[in-house]
Amino acid sequence: MQKGQVHGFKRERIELEPCSICTGKAVVMGLFYELVCTECSGSGWVVLGSRLVLSLDDLVTQLSFKLQQAEREIAALKGPTKVVGPQRQYKISNRLGAGGTNYTGD
Ligand SMILES: [Zn+2]
Repeated sequence: MQKGQVHGFKRERIELEPCSICTGKAVVMGLFYELVCTECSGSGWVVLGSRLVLSLDDLVTQLSFKLQQAEREIAALKGPTKVVGPQRQYKISNRLGAGGTNYTGD
């Protein structure tokens, strides 16, 4: 893979805005309990401007971008150089629980 060609395969970043039906909560209040919002496929997000809902495949990727961005912002707020070493991987492994014990990260 050549560096110059990477750009062409880069996934598009789609700007999202909170769903107006569920106000970004991903669920709406039913008669007795919360229901998954059908307007945004239960994501809480729609495409900025068009209010379209992404396909689940695209949605997962875009939400990942959004989460990564949010995590970077949180990390920046917490201050410089946070632990990204074995300690963090250990926590991730724990969260995965059974079956995730072989997780070695990158
Ligand atoms: Zn919604």
